[in-house]
Amino acid sequence: MTENRTHAPLVDGFGRTIRYLRISVTDRCDLRCRYCMAEEMTFLPRAKIATLEELAVIAERFIARGVRKVRLSGGEPLVRRDVQQLVQRLGRHVGTALDELTMTTNGTRLREHAAALYDAGIRRLNVSVDTLDADRFRFITRHGDIAQVLDGIAAARDAGLAVKINMVALKGLNEDDIPAMLDWCIAQEHDLTLIETMPLGAIDEDRTDRFLPLTAVKDRLDTLFPLVRDADGTGGPARYWRVDGTGTRLGLISPLTANFCDGCNRVRLTTEGRLYTCLGHDDQRDLRGALRDGGVAALDAAIEDALTTKPRRHDFRIARDAAPAVARHMSVTGG
Ligand code: SAM
Ligand code: SF4
Repeated sequence: MTENRTHAPLVDGFGRTIRYLRISVTDRCDLRCRYCMAEEMTFLPRAKIATLEELAVIAERFIARGVRKVRLSGGEPLVRRDVQQLVQRLGRHVGTALDELTMTTNGTRLREHAAALYDAGIRRLNVSVDTLDADRFRFITRHGDIAQVLDGIAAARDAGLAVKINMVALKGLNEDDIPAMLDWCIAQEHDLTLIETMPLGAIDEDRTDRFLPLTAVKDRLDTLFPLVRDADGTGGPARYWRVDGTGTRLGLISPLTANFCDGCNRVRLTTEGRLYTCLGHDDQRDLRGALRDGGVAALDAAIEDALTTKPRRHDFRIARDAAPAVARHMSVTGG
């Protein structure tokens, strides 16, 4: 990187400094979770997908401009061939320009990848597990094998990676599994984050039928576990509680019942190299196109232009027969 390039922090129109970049490295996935994807999905043609080199160059501009944390997600990041090259390249910045490189994964391929992720500088993973019950897991993911995921999590722990479990709370599907999941996380020393289902992308069912407000879940958990509010705010969307007497933290992500946008410090890059400044809005800028047409100067200009359009807040709502808030699926922007 040459010296005359700006290192000025990226600040949006509402004075929020951008410190967090999430990258969806692929929109493809080996599972089909019912709340996330339709059974039949049309994925991007390979010609539209940015190369790992392009994603790395774009990510490194964000890092040079003050981003301190990068999360790789998808789709399923570990189904992208050669994803380890990107992990290794970005991992070189950990401990200097980057505080943290992390990944969100469904865990199916962790057994083969965990050691390499650790060697590249990743120390923490989010693994999505919506239930520990084998039949329900197969139903929710449409064909997933919970034993394979649990084996992947064990491999991650053996490799030295801390694991946080992500669980989408689904009415009538896994709501009764939530206390058991928290018990298991306490025993395994994982943190647990519960997530409200969000209206992103068309799926085969009406999300209203599965929407479970986390306020009600928290009331129930309070009767079963000694939850103590943990004020530690990371600028992220979750609110946290400690399970007293254990090492486990419970996070709640409630985009529908509690808005968290005021402190938002993140932006999202898609596998096409497009920048979305808000999960709940359609505004985007083609950063890969800018890079291809005008090099790093054009890339910088496109990033700054995109930030002027970052909205104050998402306006998710979930209502029967309403269209999704945005047409794209969570897998496009990586959650
Ligand atoms: N495949 C990886 C996984 O499942 O962890 C990474 C991508 S996935 C899109 C990232 C997270 O978004 C997962 O925890 C998943 O459960 C969550 N997610 C997907 N669709 C969602 C939706 N419509 N509402 C809320 N969370 C969703
Ligand atoms: Fe795949 Fe993750 Fe979406 Fe499930 S939530 S279908 S694992 S991208």
